[in-house]
Amino acid sequence: MARQTERRIWNKAAECMDREQLRELQSERLRAVVQREYENVPMYRERMQAKGLTPFDIRTVDDLRYLPFTEKTDLRDQYPYGLFAAPRQEIVRIQGSSGTTGKPIVAGYTARDIENWSEMVARAVTAAGGTNESIIQVTYGYGLFTGGLGLHQGASKVGAQVIPMSSGNTARQLMMMEDLGTNILCCTPSYALFLGETLRENGVNPKERLQMKAGIFGAEPWTEEMRQRIEELFEIDALDIYGLTEIAGPGVAFECLEKHGMHVNEDHVIPEIIDPVTEEPLPYGSKGELVFTTITKEGMPMLRYRTHDICQLDATPCACGRTFVRMARITGRTDDMLIIRGVNVFPSQIESVLVNVKGVAPHYMLVVDRVNATDQLEVQVEVTEEAFSDTVSGMERLTREIQEKLKSVIGLSARIKLVAPKTIPRSEGKAKRIVDNRKL
Ligand SMILES: [Zn+2]
Repeated sequence: MARQTERRIWNKAAECMDREQLRELQSERLRAVVQREYENVPMYRERMQAKGLTPFDIRTVDDLRYLPFTEKTDLRDQYPYGLFAAPRQEIVRIQGSSGTTGKPIVAGYTARDIENWSEMVARAVTAAGGTNESIIQVTYGYGLFTGGLGLHQGASKVGAQVIPMSSGNTARQLMMMEDLGTNILCCTPSYALFLGETLRENGVNPKERLQMKAGIFGAEPWTEEMRQRIEELFEIDALDIYGLTEIAGPGVAFECLEKHGMHVNEDHVIPEIIDPVTEEPLPYGSKGELVFTTITKEGMPMLRYRTHDICQLDATPCACGRTFVRMARITGRTDDMLIIRGVNVFPSQIESVLVNVKGVAPHYMLVVDRVNATDQLEVQVEVTEEAFSDTVSGMERLTREIQEKLKSVIGLSARIKLVAPKTIPRSEGKAKRIVDNRKL
């Protein structure tokens, strides 16, 4: 449901570039970044040498496929400075995210990297209708996490009035939103949903008391149904944004008001889709693992960084006029994917079923266990206040309905446990939805 009609583009020259011209620009930038890595980062030099490659072998984007991959474990192994490709005096910022072990993942930025990152986010903010007239509330955490500062910088670049709320304190968030007249909210979709529910519980009619127009929600996967819920709660356009610390932060890709995939900022990063098992590149339209190569980064460029996010790329023209390819919603992670009795299950599939069942709230927890050598999936779902006061047979009916719908989507029988309203822990950051008790 498009609520805004005016479509603005921050940087037409870049965002609507002819694709042939873009390819040339990408190839030129790719040659430069490969050279930079080869000269400054021993890990990349050694990996290229092991493949018999010199920087001169990489001439165009078609040669990307010969380059070595980068994994998150490489960032951990090279922690903290091993992958930095710029001298210490040029690094002006460190950002980070939690790693797989105790140490965080850190990324270094030069002044130009910060400038380019802000540019990418400014495009996302503009696509959501943001201008120098806008009031933008940033509810992502500030700190090492890229969400807060990332959105802050992009919103500042377009000249908006930024409210750096950071995460948490729901009552205060809603008060500031109303008092200051926030137009655009930036936070995780699960927190947006929680804010919206709280708003409605407080009896606030957003049309009367808020000035909200749009939301830019990211840092965790969400579904089309969740978008609709958030849009209804706030009466706004809810747009997706994608990014990761290893590549820049939020703004690597962003949605336009068409809401049909996120445009990848291809003048700064080159996306690929690969088969996660064979590691071969796949054509546009195929579902596979998303891989990024940064082509303007100086501080810590990445060659073929494996995101482990499952996604598709769409190169068909978008009605908004931007020519950058669009990435679909992330449908799961290669490493988040649950394999239950041999079946691949993504939490997003389960969510898409639950949001379509009347009587349950889109808050759930998946508990996997192994009983008598057989995997068991238990889906704990919150019922709504209304359904909670229903009769026992009403609850049984609801349980059966969820069971049947789930089975038709994931192909597995799951135990459904209905739980009381507001008993599943709410997150103010990334929602934790899986408890895997199997000892594999
Ligand atoms: Zn578009």
